Amino acid sequence: MFLKKRNKICKAAAVICGLCIGTAVLISGSHSVKADGENANGNDPTATPEASVEPSPTAEIPVNTDAPTMVPSEVPSTAPTAVVSPTAAPSAKPTAKPTAKPTPKPTENPYKNIKLNHKSVKLGLGELVKLSLGSKAKGTKWSTTNSTIVSVNSKGWLRGLKPGKASIKGEYKSKTYTCKVTVKDKGIEFLNYEMKKSEVLRLHLDDKDKAKWTSSNTSVAKVSEGKITALKEGSVTVKADTGKKVYSCNITVDNKEKGVIYLTFDDGPTSSSTPKILSILKKNNVKATFFTIGMDSVKEKYIKQEDEEGHTVAIHGASHDYDKIYASDAAYMKNIRTQQNNIYKVIGKKSWITRFPGGSSNLVSRHYSRGIMSRLVKEVDKAGFAYFDWNVSSGDAGGAYTSSQVYNNVIRGLNKSRDNVVLMHDFANNNKTIGALDSIIKYGKSHGYVFKPITSSTNEVHHGVQN
Ligand code: ZN
Repeated sequence: MFLKKRNKICKAAAVICGLCIGTAVLISGSHSVKADGENANGNDPTATPEASVEPSPTAEIPVNTDAPTMVPSEVPSTAPTAVVSPTAAPSAKPTAKPTAKPTPKPTENPYKNIKLNHKSVKLGLGELVKLSLGSKAKGTKWSTTNSTIVSVNSKGWLRGLKPGKASIKGEYKSKTYTCKVTVKDKGIEFLNYEMKKSEVLRLHLDDKDKAKWTSSNTSVAKVSEGKITALKEGSVTVKADTGKKVYSCNITVDNKEKGVIYLTFDDGPTSSSTPKILSILKKNNVKATFFTIGMDSVKEKYIKQEDEEGHTVAIHGASHDYDKIYASDAAYMKNIRTQQNNIYKVIGKKSWITRFPGGSSNLVSRHYSRGIMSRLVKEVDKAGFAYFDWNVSSGDAGGAYTSSQVYNNVIRGLNKSRDNVVLMHDFANNNKTIGALDSIIKYGKSHGYVFKPITSSTNEVHHGVQN
């Protein structure tokens, strides 16, 4: 789902990035690619000739060099005899720089000193890098050969949008300069995200460096260490600056919906229950969340299907064995990381959404490690995971034995004034839930509820920890 979402996001981002990255120059002061004007007087005759440079986007690149050897090859035979302003020609005031090397012939060459700061750039998703022809190339027209892969705004700021290759062209006085761009599949988790007021979204960076997070408008959404809290309606750009690279995500905040139902299915997938559940969900056009256990070829097939049909594939664990997973804090963390990796290998997306086997309020873990749940709820959060308990139980793992019991448990538990997280199971042969599901969805829809899958910004629903 994330991939599809990303594609969708890319198109939107390509349109609006001009707005968002226009402000980048203000916040990305520590970014090592210098902006226009920062070294406008950088007449460095020792600068490496452009042809031998394959700059990495993180390298210090002189924006504007005066390498005299550049000049002859840069003069096309049809060079227009444009009038060059005095400030554009250092040779006009030779006395101003007594230590400078003898200047080349004082031809009025409009391309003199004009050079692209990057011939090629590797960008992460959502990463911002500035292209420049130097401070003298005023009015450069920037364009991209593929706006779904990389965008560029009028100031030359690039933003990686989708893995792939494209070129950026800078047109200055009828000469075109080209920068080849490769966008990698790593970067910031979302490029564009819609949030409801009071939702909290956790953003993850693939970059291992610790980032400084900032919001362009802290009254609309504030951010602290990747956790974004939506405060009021509006749009903001959230940036993560690692000191070497800057990434951005565009956040739109609007009003919160009332009466959301999150259907969740634990302990699957299984060949006897999961396909039947998926088919009922599909028929009703409802997206749900699957807290999966383990991986094998059968599970792989259904996890792929869950993802392809727009459901959220989440983490219950590689194992559900209480004695093993609650034996120690490290054992539990390993159990969810293993399943995160299992899922990643199958659908190519990292899930950060988890549910403790037995819920965070379970007492069974006490047999294996006293106080472990109190420690784990903090540790899981610190590691970047969100955990979801439930506030509506179908009783299908005990207590409910028929479809009508499952149905009644669910609809009695629903409450219009909150987010309803419904606990159900797709373990083997769970026919009572399969038999109730269609009626539960019809009840919800006819009573004004909306069904949604849990996402990175869904408010976490927690039980009280008892161990
Ligand atoms: Zn379970």
